[in-house]
Amino acid sequence: MKMYLLDYGYTNVDKGIVLTLGQDIGKVVPTPIWGALLDTGKEYVLIDTGMNPIHIKDPNATFIGTDLHGKIVPVMNERNTALECVKACGVSPNSIKYVINTHLHFDHCGGNLFFPNARFVVQKHHYNWATSPKSNCPKRDFLLEGTKWLFVDGDVEFLPKISLILTPGHVPYHQSILIDLGEKKVIIAGDAVSLRESMSDNAPITADNPVDFYASIRKLQSLSRKYQAQLLLSHDQEQWSSLIHAPKQFQ
Ligand SMILES: [Zn+2]
Repeated sequence: MKMYLLDYGYTNVDKGIVLTLGQDIGKVVPTPIWGALLDTGKEYVLIDTGMNPIHIKDPNATFIGTDLHGKIVPVMNERNTALECVKACGVSPNSIKYVINTHLHFDHCGGNLFFPNARFVVQKHHYNWATSPKSNCPKRDFLLEGTKWLFVDGDVEFLPKISLILTPGHVPYHQSILIDLGEKKVIIAGDAVSLRESMSDNAPITADNPVDFYASIRKLQSLSRKYQAQLLLSHDQEQWSSLIHAPKQFQ
């Protein structure tokens, strides 16, 4: 199994409004947005698709008129689209068999439109929540005509060496991914653990449901210990800059 980490650009966010609720309000931090391309030897699997390319010309396209206008400001160029990132790895977008979305927030499924041949893998109950009026997921990004969904329910071994782990809290029925790369194992936490500081005691939350949020972090920490798997955090600038990015293979 080979893995490539894809640079989908970043957002400038008000940390205390978006990442660590109530703590560091007014502090603007660059927040990486990324995904992963897996080559299993039999098929290509993409994990998360970053932001919709609409933000290249109009950074406020998603949040204008909402409470988050100016609090989450996308920064991306053509090279940061999921389409160009996959192509830069020498892979045809049409050959992506599965796209796993950790969840359906705008920075994780905005490039779904580039992969009409793929099957999209989400937790069934997350989809039900995301499509309901109470969610804050832009339907523009994932309710696309002809999308072939593949719904899963709970913890499942999705493919050999790729397991989906239910990690709710940030949003209902969020999922993380445990991957056996052979030489090492990794867990793509998604927004279950977005920052290193989320793992400290009494950490500020990035969640609607604090009880589930802390339980999911403990679950991932426990899996990380059990399998000696490296936890890859969704929006931690320091960790992201220390990792090997595509087109080089992750090690
Ligand atoms: Zn996110």
